[in-house]
Amino acid sequence: MTDTFGAQPSAIDRSSLLEALQETSNDAIITIDARGLIQTFNTRAEFLFGYERGEVIGKNVKLLMPGHFREQHDRYIANYLETGVKRIIGIGRVVTGERRDGSTFPLELSVGESTLGGRTIFVGFIRDLTEMKAEQRRVQELQHELFHVSRLAEMGQVASGLAHEVNQPLAAIMNYLQVAQQLLKQQPDGGGAASNVLEKVEAQSKRAADVVKRLRAFIDRREVERKRENLSTLIEEALALGMVGPASSGLRVHLQIDRDLPHVEVDRVQIQQVVVNLVRNAIDAMAHSARRELRIEASKEGNDVIVAVTDTGPGISPEVADKLFAAFVTTKPDGMGVGLSICRAIVESHGGRIAHDSAYVGGARFRFAVPTSQDSAN
Ligand code: ADP
Repeated sequence: MTDTFGAQPSAIDRSSLLEALQETSNDAIITIDARGLIQTFNTRAEFLFGYERGEVIGKNVKLLMPGHFREQHDRYIANYLETGVKRIIGIGRVVTGERRDGSTFPLELSVGESTLGGRTIFVGFIRDLTEMKAEQRRVQELQHELFHVSRLAEMGQVASGLAHEVNQPLAAIMNYLQVAQQLLKQQPDGGGAASNVLEKVEAQSKRAADVVKRLRAFIDRREVERKRENLSTLIEEALALGMVGPASSGLRVHLQIDRDLPHVEVDRVQIQQVVVNLVRNAIDAMAHSARRELRIEASKEGNDVIVAVTDTGPGISPEVADKLFAAFVTTKPDGMGVGLSICRAIVESHGGRIAHDSAYVGGARFRFAVPTSQDSAN
């Protein structure tokens, strides 16, 4: 490394330069060794995670992750050192972090690898995504993608609802028209000019019915892209995305994903949309709750993978309980009431099912099932 004057900095310069770099960074920077033990922890990391460096140096970095990730982390490092297969190094991912007070937050993590004195170290750069600045974040791209699908789905749902609603009065109009034409024919002049007008009305009504028919056909033809997916990664990412925004601050997240979850054949963005919708609804529901805990579980049951999202909010209000999955049902002042109906449409189009667990007390629990791929080896 050379400084701006072309000279080689001395060892001391170098370490103070490193120190300065770490301390001025807007990212949290954490270095760990090959065992996962924290070696350095900069000021931004102290701020983000609520620990002082003296408390965490020498401890396993798992400390900064919610339970589910803790279990996996040792295996990640060991696997990587053994096989060289990278899951995160040089790639970067959106994951969930846990603060000292147990609350969780979405973060973007990129990891670099280096050797120091012959030993491997990993350097993690961490950005808090809770209140991200819109322009720079990778999560924005993902959100954008989801948002696009969500808008399309919402539009589809609205259009499909409208088509359904419009179809019925249209059918009635056509029936009345026929009756009116019959009545007119019984007149001495066969209805004359009025009959003519009614024929035009009929032609226009048929046209409207045709437009509705084509609209429904168009909606049904929406393209989906199904691939074999690892549900664990898909859920982790959707969870982090669903948590973006100030409403999730102070939230506790428990993620429990079975280790040997089989792969599923799904459209990733659509299934993420389902998880994001359920997570957002859960966070909305807990806005005024003293205890704000979100639990996401995924396990295999028979030939299905079951995903459950549980919150500690007030539960489903009785006025909507029996029509939760219908379109335009909402108790929120700014709600569209299409989130759950989209979830149902997506899950059912994957051959699965979704339901609210009415037996659950102490909040709300939604469960959805997706059939596993035929060749479900991991
Ligand atoms: P929206 O969120 O726009 O209202 P949804 O279809 O997603 O539309 O939800 C419909 C309604 O279901 C919500 O307005 C709310 O009353 C109820 N609901 C959904 N999820 C929950 C939950 N986790 N806890 C309590 N009520 C919920």
